[in-house]
Amino acid sequence: MNYLIFWPLCMPKLTICNWKMNGSIQLIDSFISIAAHLPNDTACWNLVIAMPDIFLAYAASKEPRFRLAAQDCSTYSGFGAHTGEISADMLVDIGIRYVILGHSERRSHGDGAEAELIHVKLANATRCGLIAILCVSDDYESQITKQTESLLQVYHDKIILAYEPVSAIGTGCLPSAADIRETAVRLQQRYKIPRVIYGGSVTSTNALDILRVDEISGVLVGGASLKIDEVSAILRIQELM
Ligand code: PEP
Repeated sequence: MNYLIFWPLCMPKLTICNWKMNGSIQLIDSFISIAAHLPNDTACWNLVIAMPDIFLAYAASKEPRFRLAAQDCSTYSGFGAHTGEISADMLVDIGIRYVILGHSERRSHGDGAEAELIHVKLANATRCGLIAILCVSDDYESQITKQTESLLQVYHDKIILAYEPVSAIGTGCLPSAADIRETAVRLQQRYKIPRVIYGGSVTSTNALDILRVDEISGVLVGGASLKIDEVSAILRIQELM
């Protein structure tokens, strides 16, 4: 069986909210009300919220069913004298399951040195057992080093590739569903990675078109993820898949 094709089809699709530098205790509390209205626990488990680190422990204590993500982690591992850094090990220690890495808003130069740093973060995250959501844009060939490619192969079940064309982030200009599908297939085949999600201007209005692409395992939602109605509507669409 070609697992590259069949595994994503049988896995539930994910909605990953990226709150960026937004959020508050009040917003977390109101999202907890989403959990109460979801049809079942499974729907809740297919929602991942990436919030600023400062809120993670609070959210984890309030709604244990939510999957929580950090928006980055340190290149340093473990614990030590690295002021201001938060390691993958520390995220695991407070019960965090996911981490976003390589988001375009955190990539400053896009050069080889940066790809190296992201590789180190990815190695730390996967070693700790986190599920890494590795963001790549259209120039993914330069963002994924040879070393990273090997990690993708070893940890193919622990890494989700998030295809996020920079031109689509926050602009409302999305590629067509056919283009998204084509890139997802290319990424799956090139890197032998089963789970590819799409991010860039996803809303409840276009989520159906994207989520019904078989090769897409979920969506990464930025701006719209701050609105409870939008997230609830996307989760309802996701339930139909
Ligand atoms: C993002 O920043 O990951 C993102 C997808 O943003 P938006 O949905 O706002 O385009």
